[in-house]
Amino acid sequence: MNLVLADRMSRLGTETAFQVGMKIASLEAQGKKIVKLHIGQPDFPTPENVKQAAVNAINANKTGYTTSNGTLAIRNAVADYVLKTRGVPVDPEEVIVMPGGKPVMFAAAFTLLDSSTEAIVPDPSYPIYESASKVMGAVVKPLPILEEKGFSFDHEVFKHLVSNKTKLVFVNTPANPTGGVLSKEDLKLVRDLAVEKNFWVLSDEIYSRIVYDGKHESILNMDGMKERTILLDGWSKTYSMTGWRLGYGVMPKELASHFATAAINMYSCVTNFCQDGGIEALTGPQDDVDKMVKTFKERRDFIVKGLNEIEGVSCIMPKGAFYAFPNVKKICAKSGKNSKQLESYLLENGLACLAGSAFGSFGEGYLRFSYAASKEDIAAGLEIMRSAFEKL
Ligand code: PLP
Repeated sequence: MNLVLADRMSRLGTETAFQVGMKIASLEAQGKKIVKLHIGQPDFPTPENVKQAAVNAINANKTGYTTSNGTLAIRNAVADYVLKTRGVPVDPEEVIVMPGGKPVMFAAAFTLLDSSTEAIVPDPSYPIYESASKVMGAVVKPLPILEEKGFSFDHEVFKHLVSNKTKLVFVNTPANPTGGVLSKEDLKLVRDLAVEKNFWVLSDEIYSRIVYDGKHESILNMDGMKERTILLDGWSKTYSMTGWRLGYGVMPKELASHFATAAINMYSCVTNFCQDGGIEALTGPQDDVDKMVKTFKERRDFIVKGLNEIEGVSCIMPKGAFYAFPNVKKICAKSGKNSKQLESYLLENGLACLAGSAFGSFGEGYLRFSYAASKEDIAAGLEIMRSAFEKL
């Protein structure tokens, strides 16, 4: 059968962390040992109380379909949590629980974007923003995220990117892949233009609890933003629940109903008993989260110090999330390899990380390391990198 794909498939991107994951699996099958710093997945188990809540739910036969936007109980828990963490009152009808934070991006692009629209996407950023926007036919305008701005953006550049066709702007703080945190002034600028030009903001706050200095700022609680914000958050990173596939969007009711229709078309509802785990995570004790964040902070300090000790590498201190984004431009110049080639070279040497260019062209000359890994693995990874770069 001659496979002729739909046109749109040529516009669909991907997330390289999963592709590198497949390469690692094949190298490991050949008996090779790989230090894995490529994926943003906490290396802690899901908290006991959360697991128990899901086990109890299975035993109580919560194994059938639920409403497509999530049970009322979990949407109430999310609404209370958003009020507590962002100071914004939310109606449960404004919440949709989806299988991860990722589907919220796709649903936002699916419901809002088409070929008559433009989306502004930070560059570098989580690759699904661009992929989802392009596949819906929108023109994607990259917003450079700059090391010299502490991995934030230039306000003048942002103003120039906004046009009458701007329909959706993606904002991510704390950010993947840079660990950057946007300031209140950055968010205010986005707010001012969103209100003036009438565009939507998808505020990806999946790392909102992993902030090392100061407190998390959310655009959702700025004047005029509740009616034009899609808040994306979830359980994956905060509660180490990546494989549960549980995340949520908060948005105006009118839009939430279209998200639900998209959900019905794709997967009907999120796994029933997982939702009880999600409720327990939000409403139960938070000590495990605090412990995890404290450990991430120690590892952040350790990896950043280690990276800066490697000749030709420099790394600014990430303010949130669990990624370090070192500048390796001197290594690229010395070796003639771009960051994608350095990614492959390091993998051959037993270290898995990601090329900055996997997150957009402004990520060229950088590598991304996840320090959601043990200190031993981080130390081993740094040593591989040091000796591999010395040989170039
Ligand atoms: N948003 C950002 C910025 C991420 O880095 C990730 C995962 O790496 C997600 C969203 C998706 O999270 P989930 O696993 O809940 O779909």
